[in-house]
Amino acid sequence: MIWKKLLMCSALAVLFSLGTVGKGGYVLASEEKEPGIVRATDKMELDMENAFYISGITDEVWKRIEGKSYKADCTVPVEELRYLHVLHKDLDGVTHEGEMICNVSIAQDLIEIFKALYDAGYPIEKMRLVDEYNADDEASMADNNSSCFNFRFISYTKTVSRHGLGLAVDINPLYNPYIKTVKGKKSIEPANAGAYEDRTKDFAYKLNKGDLCYNLFTSHGFTWGGEWTHAKDYQHFEIPKSK
Ligand SMILES: [Zn+2]
Repeated sequence: MIWKKLLMCSALAVLFSLGTVGKGGYVLASEEKEPGIVRATDKMELDMENAFYISGITDEVWKRIEGKSYKADCTVPVEELRYLHVLHKDLDGVTHEGEMICNVSIAQDLIEIFKALYDAGYPIEKMRLVDEYNADDEASMADNNSSCFNFRFISYTKTVSRHGLGLAVDINPLYNPYIKTVKGKKSIEPANAGAYEDRTKDFAYKLNKGDLCYNLFTSHGFTWGGEWTHAKDYQHFEIPKSK
């Protein structure tokens, strides 16, 4: 039996040296240094079935968000927030670990949505905490990072934004910009998304009405910013205020 073990070891060594390992349809990235990527060497430890989970805000997560997305004036009790760990695939089908913080009331919905998107291979490029961008939304969007919670008030009001409550999610924001008119001038967020303003064109990571992402979010009670009339926020899904 020893020869069998040796054969298996050498086969695994070949797979690891190739950098990617295909197992049950999963393709794992090999970049060992890049954060958020499932490393081939972690393959044996990563339990694919349990990679989608919800936790409270642990001390470790708190240290990452305090003073950033969870600002000093945050009116949402930390007990109302949840940390999500998911997997997602990029355009090349490479699996990445994703993180998101959301309101407790939608945590289970988001786990179900991201699991379905992952199983279908719906591409999401990055899903990191906005705190990795110092809670700077523009920087996060410009990097095509999908995210949810970031405490803030709507400009010039005392109303907390839906992201501030952890009740709104932005998906692939660079390719699905927020287009509005401010004082008679057109504004595009992120500013580097001009090439993706024309929604009659077809391009990677584009969100469309009726696609899987749209269907999953809307069937879980979210509305889509791409259907707003006063502006168009193609990256944005939110639980409307009446709920
Ligand atoms: Zn949004």
